[in-house]
Amino acid sequence: MSLVIGLTGGIGSGKSTASQWFEKKGIAVVDADIVAREIVLPGQPALKEIKETFGEWTIQNDGYLNRQALRSYIFQHVKARKQLEEITHPKIRASIIEQLNSTQSSYSILVSPLLFETEQHLLTDRTLLIDCTEAIQISRAVQRDHQSLEQIKKIIVAQMTRIEKQKRADDIVLNETSPDDLFSQLCPLHEKYLVLAHQA
Ligand code: ADP
Repeated sequence: MSLVIGLTGGIGSGKSTASQWFEKKGIAVVDADIVAREIVLPGQPALKEIKETFGEWTIQNDGYLNRQALRSYIFQHVKARKQLEEITHPKIRASIIEQLNSTQSSYSILVSPLLFETEQHLLTDRTLLIDCTEAIQISRAVQRDHQSLEQIKKIIVAQMTRIEKQKRADDIVLNETSPDDLFSQLCPLHEKYLVLAHQA
């Protein structure tokens, strides 16, 4: 496995925008959100376990996971959230490791909104926080996702606080103005990661 940089940030902070920039530079990006969706596809063991644990209502008529119903259920039941995580987290972790092991680029990025919360940072050598105020997060996420303000705020509350993430991250990029400003801050980090990857 080459050097792994964990890239995180709250909803709407600009993680995808930043990781797409790294991808354009030829850096392999493993997205924990995509992995989380892959491991519950029809036929996957996690989907069967979810059905057996919570009931038939978790599966749609087309055989796919009823994500919306499950999401609102776990928002209301703390214990169910833990149960779901016990099913999914080890499988997500195993798949992330497999993907990171098969990358060919000089270093790799693991992008995850819950990098610290789910201890995925332990799979990385260094972490990068894409940071911005909560007000900016909310306005971007509302525009992008067309979700209600209330829903976005709930997601933010469920995530680790901005201050806690700032304390834990090795590198921090403030993404509060333009994408070009974000990219100009990513440039020197990319150079630094190339040097670190070379030394590793
Ligand atoms: P995340 O992946 O952290 O949820 P995204 O990268 O998807 O965040 O960014 C959220 C939204 O905000 C997207 O529509 C994106 O195009 C936009 N965005 C991100 N960074 C900036 C920026 N610096 N200026 C303007 N819009 C931005």
